[in-house]
Amino acid sequence: HKYVYEFTEGGKDEKDLLGGKGANLAEMTRLGLPVPPGFTVTTEACRRYLADGVVPSELRVQVTRALRALEDQIGRQLGDPEDPLLVSVRSGAKFSMPGMMETVLNIGLNDASVRGLAAVAGNERFAWDSYRRLIAMFGKTVLGIEGEFFAEAMDAMKREHGVTEDVDLTAGHLEELVEVYNKLVQQETGRPFPQHPREQLDLAIKAVFDSWNTERAMLYRRRERIPHDLGTAVNVCTMVFGNLGPDSGTGVCFTRDPATGKQGEYGDYLPNAQGEDVVAGIRTPLTLTGLAERDHASADQLHAVMRRLETHYRDLCDIEFTVERGKLWMLQTRVGKRTAAAAFRIAAQLVDEQLITLDEALQRVTGEQLARLMFPQFDRSADRTLLAQGLAASPGAAVGTAVFDSSAAAARAVAGESVILVRRETNPDDLEGMIAATGVLTSRGGKTSHAAVVARGMGRTCVCGAEAIDVDAVARTARVGDAVINEGDVIAIDGSTGEVFLGDVPVISSPVSRYLEEGLEAVLEDADEDTAELVTAVDRILAHADSARRMQVRANADTRDDAARARRLGAQGIGLCRTEHMFLGDRRALIERLVLAGSAAARTSALEALLPLQRSDFLELFEAMDGLPVTVRLLDPPLHEFLPDRTELSVRVAIARERGEDSADDEALLAAVDRLHESNPMLGLRGVRLGLVVPGLFAMQVRAVAEAAAARIKAGGRPMVEIMVPLVGSVMELHLIRDETDGVLAEVSDREGMTLDVPIGTMIELPRAALTAGRIAEAADFFSFGTNDLTQTAWGFSRDDVEAAFFAAYLDKGVFTVSPFETLDEFGVGRLVRVAVEEGRSTKPGLKMGVCGEHGGDPDSVHFFHDVGLDYVSCSPFRVPVARLEAGRAAV
Ligand code: PEP
Ligand code: MG
Repeated sequence: HKYVYEFTEGGKDEKDLLGGKGANLAEMTRLGLPVPPGFTVTTEACRRYLADGVVPSELRVQVTRALRALEDQIGRQLGDPEDPLLVSVRSGAKFSMPGMMETVLNIGLNDASVRGLAAVAGNERFAWDSYRRLIAMFGKTVLGIEGEFFAEAMDAMKREHGVTEDVDLTAGHLEELVEVYNKLVQQETGRPFPQHPREQLDLAIKAVFDSWNTERAMLYRRRERIPHDLGTAVNVCTMVFGNLGPDSGTGVCFTRDPATGKQGEYGDYLPNAQGEDVVAGIRTPLTLTGLAERDHASADQLHAVMRRLETHYRDLCDIEFTVERGKLWMLQTRVGKRTAAAAFRIAAQLVDEQLITLDEALQRVTGEQLARLMFPQFDRSADRTLLAQGLAASPGAAVGTAVFDSSAAAARAVAGESVILVRRETNPDDLEGMIAATGVLTSRGGKTSHAAVVARGMGRTCVCGAEAIDVDAVARTARVGDAVINEGDVIAIDGSTGEVFLGDVPVISSPVSRYLEEGLEAVLEDADEDTAELVTAVDRILAHADSARRMQVRANADTRDDAARARRLGAQGIGLCRTEHMFLGDRRALIERLVLAGSAAARTSALEALLPLQRSDFLELFEAMDGLPVTVRLLDPPLHEFLPDRTELSVRVAIARERGEDSADDEALLAAVDRLHESNPMLGLRGVRLGLVVPGLFAMQVRAVAEAAAARIKAGGRPMVEIMVPLVGSVMELHLIRDETDGVLAEVSDREGMTLDVPIGTMIELPRAALTAGRIAEAADFFSFGTNDLTQTAWGFSRDDVEAAFFAAYLDKGVFTVSPFETLDEFGVGRLVRVAVEEGRSTKPGLKMGVCGEHGGDPDSVHFFHDVGLDYVSCSPFRVPVARLEAGRAAV
């Protein structure tokens, strides 16, 4: 096994083996840039060590060989008492994990070589300063001594000599400090600080390996979704010193501004300092112009290196460098992290500079970044009082007065007030309030709770599951510890972070969302230069995504306004119209009448009342989406959502009885509600089951669809309607509904004297449907995957309960790195999708398939849907641009 690579041996594409830092050091070496010589111990060696618990013996031999080569090249030996070679030992994983792992500088110093260094450098203070840094760093990271002990000893030394700054300690003071540090090591570890340079090196390498599995490193990886089994590489590099005097220094620079994406180099330089001083911010650094004024030659050379690196990597690079007595050294480079705005601007700039193609530009940005650019944001520099932390359920920044019920929300909103609806949890009765509110805050429920799903659908900002908040809707207050929010108090919620603030927080609106809704021209009219460049970049890249993607993007929308907005945002149709949403609010009673109807006559009269309402809903929708497909899903409510609350009703009946009042109607209602009560409504009488059990219900809906379509055709429109049956588990269910539906369509066609071409398809949202998709395809004109229910039923996770109940613990324990309700679980649920696609198409080649679960707008999931061969994704209107971008990225 080759465990050690000299910097001259590797390259930038070997990040798996050499880690990011090692691969880039090798690349710079290969480019002939001034990199201090060194070598990299591979991630494979780390993995071996972590598995076996011992350093592989071959590694020791290979380190010896590499070290000798290094010594020969430099002409000095590690820790030589006369003229020591010193090295740094740094971790470097495939993915950068800033500050998570260990670094030890100045390895090779000991009681003898510190004097040699002083003599050679002609600088006593520098040598003792380097030695004390080594003991402290080594003591902390390798020997596990509290860093505080070293800091306290340093402070004591400063007090003793009456100085306040580290730099005011003299060589003599620092020599004394080394003595104190040495005692500290002896005292804390029971043995002296290791004097042998090679022992220092070996222990440091081992410590870097071990740092892969510290608590904080594991936590960071879980949060960033970095796999735990990669291991880290270790870079051993010849030390160069930025703290040798005024002609030395150290700095960090970027080839473009990573915050805004503005063109032009950008950086910080700290004279007479070591790297850690820049990060620690102990002195205010100079700009690159400041460097040029002090040291023209180094600045010029740095400029040339930056240009070279950017041309080579064809991307924004971030660079760490050191100047040692007027000589420039490159210590690190990598493709730099950047904000969402910078990502789009830089990608477009690089296209203009002919460094990358548009396909590549598309790969350089993500849907998540686009989403971030779309939502209004809180001004993070403003003063804010954090009240509670909930789940980031629907992004955005909302400020308003707190209200605790729907009617108050509506009343205040009508009066022009911006309100935040605060509820323990929401239910369909809150819809009016949610529409009226700018934001929704709940103390219960997860990211797929009612509040979250509906808020995302409407583009409302939402924080849910803020459990520290105790909501009392009756008293119209909420408490968090001692703080009380009364109705009318101003609060602010950040749906991108889950934060809840007391009082007003200034909001900055997003030019990108204006661009997406109103077009480029509208924004360019009054945009500043930066904004103009940003929206133009987004426009170009999104246009390219549209031309590249294979999948269509539709929206989930139930109203004319949502449909119109979706269309403006680029939706190519409606993939899911949830007709149950058309019966919330006042109309809920109509469904209640239907469901509770005791006789055929009562049922018919309820259906007759519903028909015209449905028809006019569809008319509006088809008009807004004229010429584009609209998938109308037949009613799929968990039934309890449409019935009166059982507890409330029982109380009412009990009170009436107590008072001797007549409660016959309520009692009959209660009996019916009792009869229909389900302990598991999500698995109960919903979807196709309802259609088969409640005679005439689906037929009424189909009739409304057909009549609305006929009316549109007569009016010269081009309705493209599809009917979809929810929650099918058996082909037989679909056959039964299909027969009924075909009958109604034929009847309306005959009556209207036209042919209505209405495909009839089904949702695939139960495991049985996926597994029997070959049969189901016989009766279906299309499939649409309902991945919300498919996830719920495949995992056996109640979508309304589990996220708040225990997902935090599951994420923490690493059962999954992201909620399967957010990103499709490819291995499990994805397998069901794959099976259904294959079987469905083997029955009917070319069968049209899409997805309309929440996953349709999730970036990672969009790539999966592209890969399995779906024809379209359908998502909330506000996620349409994200899905367009990601579908494009998946295709290039
Ligand atoms: C689904 O289950 O994925 C779906 C789209 O339907 P709903 O969320 O309405 O159950
Ligand atoms: Mg469903």
